[in-house]
Amino acid sequence: DPRLKAISDAIRVMPNFPKPGIMFQDITTLVSNHKVFKDTVDIFVDRYRDKGISVVAGVEARGFIFAPAIALAIGAKFVPLRKPKKLPGKVISESYELEYGEDCLEMHVDAVEQGDRALVIDDLVATGGTLSAAIRLLERAGSEVVECACVIGIPEVKGRSRLDGKPLYILVEPS
Ligand code: 5GP
Repeated sequence: DPRLKAISDAIRVMPNFPKPGIMFQDITTLVSNHKVFKDTVDIFVDRYRDKGISVVAGVEARGFIFAPAIALAIGAKFVPLRKPKKLPGKVISESYELEYGEDCLEMHVDAVEQGDRALVIDDLVATGGTLSAAIRLLERAGSEVVECACVIGIPEVKGRSRLDGKPLYILVEPS
């Protein structure tokens, strides 16, 4: 797909952000290019439009940039998976390990219902810990996770192995 090179080229690499040694993949330059942003969303929409997906769950914060556009285009509802203490209603929580320490994602318990078919969207997968927590949340609330999809996937840290057997769809690798 010739669109993938343009998508990869539009991601800005910021060395030593947020700390020394990290090559941060900055997607703000991707979404500020209308054609590349649209191509990115279109690729996901084409893949998921006829898969009976009823929920597109986006991971805070950069998953929120892509997930609603996909949800609207395929006729699914958008569900935000948020950092702790942001959601006002009754939530369920799943924590996951970071390189140093722990983080947590929360979802409103009534955001999905039994029989919902969910797609999980984030901008980037590294260890897969974040997506794994997202999968647990959606399954605990009674939905089926059909697939996880990210714009960028880091192969070195084997993101694919920690996704609880769920298929993972990645557009590009970090450059
Ligand atoms: P994981 O849990 O797979 O190790 O890390 C994925 C999470 O970290 C995602 O939510 C993603 O937004 C964030 N993340 C880690 N490194 C980067 C990066 O270099 N660029 C961007 N855009 N997000 C990152």
